[in-house]
Amino acid sequence: MTEVEWANLKAHELRRLADEDAVVLLPVGAIEQHGPHLPVQVDTRLAGEVSVRAARKASATRPALTLPVVWHGLSEHHMVFGGTVTLEFDAFHQVLRGIARSVARHGFSKILIVNGHGGNHIACQTIAQELHLEFGAMVVAATYWHEAAKRFAPLLEDQDNVQHACEAETSMMLALVPHLVDDSDLAGARGGEEGWFLSKGESAFRWHNLAQITHNGTIGDPAKATAEKGEKLLEAAGDALSDLICDPETWAEARDLRGPATGGVPFRRG
Ligand SMILES: [Zn+2]
Repeated sequence: MTEVEWANLKAHELRRLADEDAVVLLPVGAIEQHGPHLPVQVDTRLAGEVSVRAARKASATRPALTLPVVWHGLSEHHMVFGGTVTLEFDAFHQVLRGIARSVARHGFSKILIVNGHGGNHIACQTIAQELHLEFGAMVVAATYWHEAAKRFAPLLEDQDNVQHACEAETSMMLALVPHLVDDSDLAGARGGEEGWFLSKGESAFRWHNLAQITHNGTIGDPAKATAEKGEKLLEAAGDALSDLICDPETWAEARDLRGPATGGVPFRRG
């Protein structure tokens, strides 16, 4: 099997992969509470796992490799339930910036941020934009369950996609680290049926902590979680991300459709 983990490769092998224009995956997770039944590593473990699977699948078509998973995330909204470690946005940005800058300096020009935590989603998009404008590398950000949404829906019974410590996340953790899952009362670990609190808003956003929408830190019902379902979800996420890695359009230079006499400034900041 092709080695796709940056940390397992030697420097000369990484130089060769840069010459081959490999896509570098940068998985990002979190350490945060995941209800009464799951360990706090969930988002970190799953982001790392789907990234390794995606890089392996893609490497049959184009070179790809994955950095070690960044476990630091933006989880202020989970702090109230304990067990959570969070960064502020500026520090989070600087962690990803330092990693991306190192990768770009070694000659890699394509970076895929694979996010595994809802609280990082918008931040990763913003950071992808900043890193591209600053370093010139093509930086794409994808939250794995959004990327795999069409594949996930038919695999799940009680929900359409990942929620939190739910049927999906519990299934994937049962597939990977069953000894870390307390499955003695998964039905009793259900939470979040209190519903979303901005019920009048169609697109309204305000910061909230999780205690405003769940009594136990779970959003969803893990009762129907199984290891078999989890393995299918992990494979589906790997397939979806692999498709993205292998899609030429995703990594193509931006087109410039400006007609004569319509030019302003170059696409990148000078
Ligand atoms: Zn999670």
